[in-house]
Amino acid sequence: MSFVIAPAAPVAVPVAGSQDSFPVRRVYCVGRNYAEHIKEMGNDVRDPPFFFAKPADAVVVGGAGIPYPPKTEDFQHEVELVVAIGKDGADIAVENALDHVYGYACGLDMTRRDLQAIAKKAGRPWEMAKGFDASAPIGTIEPASAIGHPQTGKITLSVNGVERQCGDLGDQIWSVAETIAYLSQFVVLKAGDIIMTGTPAGVSAVIKGDVLEGEIAGIGKVRTVIG
Ligand code: MN
Repeated sequence: MSFVIAPAAPVAVPVAGSQDSFPVRRVYCVGRNYAEHIKEMGNDVRDPPFFFAKPADAVVVGGAGIPYPPKTEDFQHEVELVVAIGKDGADIAVENALDHVYGYACGLDMTRRDLQAIAKKAGRPWEMAKGFDASAPIGTIEPASAIGHPQTGKITLSVNGVERQCGDLGDQIWSVAETIAYLSQFVVLKAGDIIMTGTPAGVSAVIKGDVLEGEIAGIGKVRTVIG
C-alpha cells in the first residue's frame, strides 16, 4: 500500500529480557482505583470505576525526558500499574481475565490537573487534561510468563529522590482481572492495548528539571525528567 503522507511509526514498549518490543494499539486508563487517592480528590469511594483514554503516541519509552506541557500551571504525576493485553477478547469473565495479560510495567499518567478541574466542573471531556503529547511515560514490560500476576507490591513515585506517592497494588479497589472484565464489556480489547490501572494517593505538581522515578516492587521502574 502507498500512502499520501508518511504513516506514523508504530509505538512500541521494550520487553524486559528481550530484543523485542510490545506494539501499542490503544491506551485505556482507570479513573479511580485507590481509596486514598479518591479521598484526596474529594470523590466517593463507592463509585464504580470509569475509563478514559490516551492516544497511543502519548507513550514515551526508554527513560526519555518529557516536555513541560503548554496550557497548564499544575502539571501532576500519577504512578500506575500498566497492564499489557496480549490476547483479544470481549465480555471477558473475571476468572479468565488474566489469560489476556501479556505483561506488566510501571507507568506515569501525567495530568494537567488545572485543565482536568475545569473539564470536570464544565462536564467536558478530559482529553486535553490527560491525552496530550508525551503524557504516558512507561517503563519496560515484564512478561507475565516470567513474573506471574502480582496481586500485591509496593508502588511508589519519587521526585528528585523524595517520595511523593506510596501505595500497594493490594489496595486497588478493582483488581486487574475485574478491570479487564469490566472494560471488555464496553469495548473489544485487542492484543496491543494497555491499561493504566489508577494511582495511589500523593499526586502533586512537578516543575521543569524534576526527575520522576516510579517503581512497583516485583514489576519494574519508570523514569523521566521534566524538560
Ligand atoms: Mn491516573
